[in-house]
Amino acid sequence: EAALEVIRRARIDGRGALTEIEAKQVFNAYGLPTTATYLAKTEDEAVTLAKKIGFPVVMKIVSPEILHKSDAGGVKVNIKDEASVRDAFKTILTNAKAYKADANIHGIAIQEMAPWGTEVILGSVNDATFGPTMMFGLGGIFVEVLKDVTFRVAPVSHGQALRMLSEIRGAPILAGVRGEKPRDREAMADTICRYANMIVDLADEISESDANPVLVYEETKGIKVVDARIILK
Ligand code: ADP
Ligand code: MG
Repeated sequence: EAALEVIRRARIDGRGALTEIEAKQVFNAYGLPTTATYLAKTEDEAVTLAKKIGFPVVMKIVSPEILHKSDAGGVKVNIKDEASVRDAFKTILTNAKAYKADANIHGIAIQEMAPWGTEVILGSVNDATFGPTMMFGLGGIFVEVLKDVTFRVAPVSHGQALRMLSEIRGAPILAGVRGEKPRDREAMADTICRYANMIVDLADEISESDANPVLVYEETKGIKVVDARIILK
């Protein structure tokens, strides 16, 4: 099946982690909506792909050894024209080499720029006692400073997923505060269920993973995973 094939190829390559592009392929195989993402190996390819996707685009370093891409100066958002694609291509490569001189670089990911949405985080760990376990929380300071997250042993039912959304302290943000429209909690719960099925199915392969951030839109407008990470067992 598609997901196992992606993982098998990474293992043949001797790697313990998937790139964002590969991780999104695995997510897609389980029906998780991700930003359309393509690999460019040259500046010209980057321009062709950006035109195919349509501006604005996001560009990111693709290296199995650079898993925190922003820390390496490896992410550029809102790139609006061909000249900026060429600039960003050079800058990202220079930054990546300065960050880790011997990093194996696959190229640069050119991706659709997702519209703004409420940032949430999904993640998984393999608990020594309970096995594959899901984590959900709001993004940004909510997870980093307030540790406002909740866990469930996978698989997770739709009802349990909805309860995860309502039991964090920041729940009112998804319900809609101060005149803001409620967020698409049904789509978010569906995504949690699919993610949980994925980590059960791939329990022998995935050691930990995250989708950080996932952007959540207004009711009926769905969600989008903009970053994906999978660490292999
Ligand atoms: P990192 O490896 O540093 O976590 P990310 O892929 O998460 O890199 O990118 C950093 C930030 O850039 C994200 O938190 C998000 O705010 C923004 N971003 C990344 N990709 C996209 C995208 N396709 N559309 C819109 N915003 C994006
Ligand atoms: Mg990220």
